[in-house]
Amino acid sequence: MNLILMGLPGAGKGTQAEKINEKYKIPHISTGDMFRLAIKEGTALGQKAKAFMDQGALVPDEVTIGIVQERLSMTDCKNGFLLDGFPRTIAQAEALKQLLANMDEKIDNVIHVDVPEEKLMERLTGRRVCPTCGRTYHVVYNPPKKDGICDKDGTTLIQREDDTADTVKNRLAVNIDQMQPLLNFYTEEGTLVTIDGDQEITDVFKDIQKQLDN
Ligand code: ADP
Ligand code: ADP
Repeated sequence: MNLILMGLPGAGKGTQAEKINEKYKIPHISTGDMFRLAIKEGTALGQKAKAFMDQGALVPDEVTIGIVQERLSMTDCKNGFLLDGFPRTIAQAEALKQLLANMDEKIDNVIHVDVPEEKLMERLTGRRVCPTCGRTYHVVYNPPKKDGICDKDGTTLIQREDDTADTVKNRLAVNIDQMQPLLNFYTEEGTLVTIDGDQEITDVFKDIQKQLDN
């Protein structure tokens, strides 16, 4: 099962990806997570990506397509994968289609998690993440059992640098402009499924499961 999760920042892609990964046993490939890891490790890729990410701008296509191509060729993607945060541009979507065709593969489903724009600011500024395992929480909607501490590994939760109100505004604007052409692209491909993301986390997942089990 080759899947793409689409949605604006804060729509709940990471949250749902964790559940899809658990149930369907396909690796969760998040370009945002890959860039953040590269920055933390101080690699050349991280140095390239950092300046763009700090401004909430997109990392250039050739850099992003390169890391995805490398990741999809790894053996754990043999039985499927879940892309999160990629593609973000038509050039990326075209490149993905081509590189999958070269591997005799294709995208089966594009799951669009749809949330009204006005809900996203609150979701993003209240987001907290575990720097060790990457698990995502929300101070109100999905709090950890113990305030500020990851349920899974006990690490102190942090706020992502780009989850501050100013950067969030720019990220939302950039993403709203970029997403519509992609929704059109996958509608034409016949793979787009839209899910109501403005429900409880478990109900969103139920709707996704219904689609995938169909
Ligand atoms: P994305 O990966 O799309 O940017 P996340 O999965 O990180 O989004 O979710 C953004 C924030 O909103 C997180 O703090 C998360 O806990 C919270 N969240 C996710 N899904 C829901 C939901 N259905 N209702 C309320 N809050 C949610
Ligand atoms: P969000 O939680 O806002 O959906 P991500 O974690 O997916 O954000 O991405 C964080 C940042 O990483 C983006 O603002 C962008 O700078 C960069 N990035 C992630 N994926 C891509 C991509 N497919 N193309 C270009 N830049 C990307």
